[in-house]
Amino acid sequence: TGAGGAVRRRRRLGVMGGTFDPIHHGHLVAASEVADRFALDEVIFVPTGQPWQKLGKDVSSAEDRYLMTVIATASNPSFSVSRVDVDRHKDTYTVDTLRDLRRQHPDADLYFITGADALETILSWQNWEEMFELAKFVGVSRPGYELSNEHLAEHLADRPDALTLVEIPALAISSTDCRKRAGENRPVWYLVPDGVVQYISKRNLYRRDAERLDGAV
Ligand code: ATP
Ligand code: MG
Repeated sequence: TGAGGAVRRRRRLGVMGGTFDPIHHGHLVAASEVADRFALDEVIFVPTGQPWQKLGKDVSSAEDRYLMTVIATASNPSFSVSRVDVDRHKDTYTVDTLRDLRRQHPDADLYFITGADALETILSWQNWEEMFELAKFVGVSRPGYELSNEHLAEHLADRPDALTLVEIPALAISSTDCRKRAGENRPVWYLVPDGVVQYISKRNLYRRDAERLDGAV
């Protein structure tokens, strides 16, 4: 209870983790829809550091992915970007992300947003039980994947609000396809924000043959 007897409700923070290589409109629509649905005060985008599930694959530098995420979210007053995973300089595990954000925002409720494809694999994530202690989970629909909580039902039986499934406008966009398009000189306009199109071209990202501009920023 605050001054004047008004009850201040706890802040609600969305957490949108991803490789964001590059960030695209599927990510942004997911965050925006969940923010509206759960009356979130803010959505924090968290680009991964070393993406452990993608080890061995060619992932753009954390700084390039971080900057594209900043560019894509800068115009939205309730979107922000966190460097917790980028600066950890270790493989990224969502449980570490949530521990760090909980420490930084002890008075907030965290809502971790995840697409249907990632949700399918969640029981294989490190310390997944602790993850569900640290945040509520929101699974969003994604074209090509079934949005289901069946694999989690028995684990979360006594906690009906631990996971909510949300249908969002279907955008069949993936970073993999954006990288492929950029590599083949095909358009990524309208799949990613304009500033991200320009950043990809400025930094020559995803061009297999082109000389890499690593270290040029
Ligand atoms: P990649 O093809 O490199 O795996 P991606 O498009 O899947 O990239 P990620 O950075 O892996 O993007 O995804 C971050 C989060 O956003 C994940 O939870 C993922 O399920 C979700 N997501 C990605 N694209 C969409 C989309 N088009 N609709 C809904 N959710 C999405
Ligand atoms: Mg993915």
